[in-house]
Amino acid sequence: MVDAAGPASARTLLIQVTLGRARAVDPALDPLRRSRLGWSPGLSHDELYGVARGTWTLGERVRRERFVVVCADGLVWQAIEIERIVDTPDGRRAFEGRVLHRGHEVHDTYVGGPAPNGRQRNPITFFDSAFDRRLCACGCGNPVGRGDFMSGHDSRAVHERVARVGSVVAFLEWFDRTWTPDQPGERQP
Ligand SMILES: [Zn+2]
Repeated sequence: MVDAAGPASARTLLIQVTLGRARAVDPALDPLRRSRLGWSPGLSHDELYGVARGTWTLGERVRRERFVVVCADGLVWQAIEIERIVDTPDGRRAFEGRVLHRGHEVHDTYVGGPAPNGRQRNPITFFDSAFDRRLCACGCGNPVGRGDFMSGHDSRAVHERVARVGSVVAFLEWFDRTWTPDQPGERQP
């Protein structure tokens, strides 16, 4: 776990939102017009996102972060990719983003597993993650947990280059013209 004030470096961290027990609230008084807060078993993805996204006391540093894992009862129940941070009428802030599903590395690494920072009283904590250091080799900016590419991004990267040359035939001609056989990495026949 990392101090909430954050290190001086620009390194990104993941955010752990820790939800308390479910409780009813008056939508007229809730800044996001919700009728319930907190976690309880059986919440839908949307319901969980609705209670997890705010409102929180969030410093400026959260604007650098990309992912939230939503925890309750010591486990991770959801992962969210942050699209923006919005100010809320109560003077606090909320996340807006998309709920990640199976197949996304952040989801697959954390959801269903133990809360990275364990059981927390503080609803917002930060943690270091391998995702901060390894990004997809295609250049899309998405983190990868294992391998060099997100699923499908390796062939996408190749097709994108073929398209830039013009066609597969043109790409092969360009390759054969350009490739030097004794280049490092070339396999010997
Ligand atoms: Zn990619």
